[in-house]
Amino acid sequence: MLEFSNNRGTLVSKNLAILVLLPFAGAFLSNKNIVLFHITIETFCIFVAMSMLLIAVNTYQHSKNSFILFLGLSYGFVAYYDFLHIVSAKGFNILSANDINISMQVWIIARYLESISLLLACLGIKNKETFNVNKYIALYILASVILNPLVFKWHVFPPFYTPFIEISTFIKFSSFFLIIINLFSIVIIYKNKAYFYEKKYKFLIASLCCVAVYIFIFSFHYVEMESQRFILGHLFKLVSFYLLYKGVVEHNLISPYIQLKESEAYHKRLLEFSPDGIMIQRDSEIVYANPAFLNIIGIENEGDLIGKSVLEFLPKEFHDTVKLRKRAMKHGEQMGGFEFPMVRTDNSIVYVETVTTIIPNGDNTEYISIVRDISDRRAAEEYRTQLENEERELKQKIAYEEMMLEFFTNISHDLKTPLNVILGTVQLLNLILIDTEMYCKTKKYINITRQNCFRLLKLINNILDISKYDNRQLNLQFKNNDIISLIENTTISIGDYIESKGIELIFDTDVEEKIIAFDMDKIERVILNLLSNAIKFTPNGGKIQVSINDDNNNVVISVKDTGIGIPSSELKTIFDRYKQVNTSLNKNCQGTGLGLALVKSIVEAHGGLVDVNSQLKAGSEFIFSLPNRLIDEAYIAESSPVYLPNNIERINIEFSDVYGISY
Ligand code: ADP
Repeated sequence: MLEFSNNRGTLVSKNLAILVLLPFAGAFLSNKNIVLFHITIETFCIFVAMSMLLIAVNTYQHSKNSFILFLGLSYGFVAYYDFLHIVSAKGFNILSANDINISMQVWIIARYLESISLLLACLGIKNKETFNVNKYIALYILASVILNPLVFKWHVFPPFYTPFIEISTFIKFSSFFLIIINLFSIVIIYKNKAYFYEKKYKFLIASLCCVAVYIFIFSFHYVEMESQRFILGHLFKLVSFYLLYKGVVEHNLISPYIQLKESEAYHKRLLEFSPDGIMIQRDSEIVYANPAFLNIIGIENEGDLIGKSVLEFLPKEFHDTVKLRKRAMKHGEQMGGFEFPMVRTDNSIVYVETVTTIIPNGDNTEYISIVRDISDRRAAEEYRTQLENEERELKQKIAYEEMMLEFFTNISHDLKTPLNVILGTVQLLNLILIDTEMYCKTKKYINITRQNCFRLLKLINNILDISKYDNRQLNLQFKNNDIISLIENTTISIGDYIESKGIELIFDTDVEEKIIAFDMDKIERVILNLLSNAIKFTPNGGKIQVSINDDNNNVVISVKDTGIGIPSSELKTIFDRYKQVNTSLNKNCQGTGLGLALVKSIVEAHGGLVDVNSQLKAGSEFIFSLPNRLIDEAYIAESSPVYLPNNIERINIEFSDVYGISY
């Protein structure tokens, strides 16, 4: 837009230069030959008036500006009468045969025409599209047809002008009247200045001022041809015509062109800054693409795209659809938005959404398309769908797990009830038979039955806890307690049994007491699990060492044995559910592969870690840590179960799969 402003700056200085030069040239000419000066000025004015006529008529088709058309046509009449004024003027004497009054009569007719036309044009500024030009021009023609013979043939008008004596009252009155009309026109233009592009109304106001001045100069006193007033009057007329011409040309030719250029610049800027791609096709060839569109298809220079068909950037299966849509649009159908993939120059696919409109352009048809890259939107939609699917799957999984937990809980209760009955019966049998002869014979079978009951109980408990852990329903009952005494008591409680198997048991701790928050019941199961494994996999003569270490942040508990060990390849998966290592060394050992999985679950639920070091045939060490922290016991729910001290039953259950146990 600034480029136009600069041009305008030069235009203004050019106009000023002409406005100064014209009077100077005229004044110079008047000094040489006053007749030539008169003829030159009048001819210049006629030429300007005719130019206005031509411009107004030829631009009307596009401008539809009746104001300018009427001015142009009226000035055609003015030019005609000014021409008659010259050819009948002193020195020319073609029409008037030396009668100066004829020349003056056509002059005053021209001035009336000029001022009235300017006034009428000004009155029509507001409604320039409906202004009835034909009506006024018909009136002008009629007036001319009547006036011409009256002036030239029948000489009906009284003398307007008596050389060297006086000018008539009619001329004086007319001049006064015309000056008033011109001032009136100036006021109208000023009031309607908003209807003019930029400040072009100033040309018209300046022109009207000059008209008023030159009428004033000529009309109130007799003006000798060689006089300064004669020269000055004509110079003002010259300037008034020039200014009017400038006004018309600026308004009708230059301003629309500048407006067009400006709007072109605005549109170009708009297209360039549009975040959406914009592309114009003429028939099937691309004739324009904005930077956003180039970006979408991965082309840097517009020149590399112009002339190509848009089909080159579409997968084959979309070609027919695009052609059909274009055909439909050509037949006047309105097409909605269309989503399709485009093939970029690097062969990657970009999803776009387009809306296209058709512009008939002579023999060609142009299509303007707005193309929006919707890859992100599609990715987001896909991601949302994936999330929804995952959420649905998760919900299904949770529902399934809940169902399974409910199932396990129910089945555990159902299994535990008959088991407890069997266990109770076995205990009773034991008591009844203990003092009888039968006891020796049945003791073995009673123990087998009891041990298998415990094994079943352990299995049921483990399955139940594992599924609770999966459902985050392990419900740990945290309490601040001495972890050392729990580990020590649990270890010692099975000390006799370990030693009866010919295994040495060592308990070692670097602190005597350590109060931390933990679930006693669950940690007891952890330690019993690790100890039962150690016993299971350590042969006679071996050693089991339980050590506790406090490293300030954690209490670290280790259960180390000198048993069969675990192959290094199995260490990574040893804590997985149902994982059992099959080697020739552990053929006799029974289990379910749930114990270590449960150990891991319980320790991690406490915020601790569990690890294993093992070497085949050398032994294994299971280490778990519990964070060194306390809880505010005021917040412990009242329903928290009170810790029940270890009893033989609990150990029996945890040790039920250790071969040969008999309590
Ligand atoms: P299981 O009921 O089978 O003992 P666990 O989860 O407690 O289940 O143990 C999984 C497997 O890890 C065992 O079957 C055994 O092969 C191996 N394992 C566990 N503890 C030891 C250990 N102290 N020494 C050697 N192998 C062990």
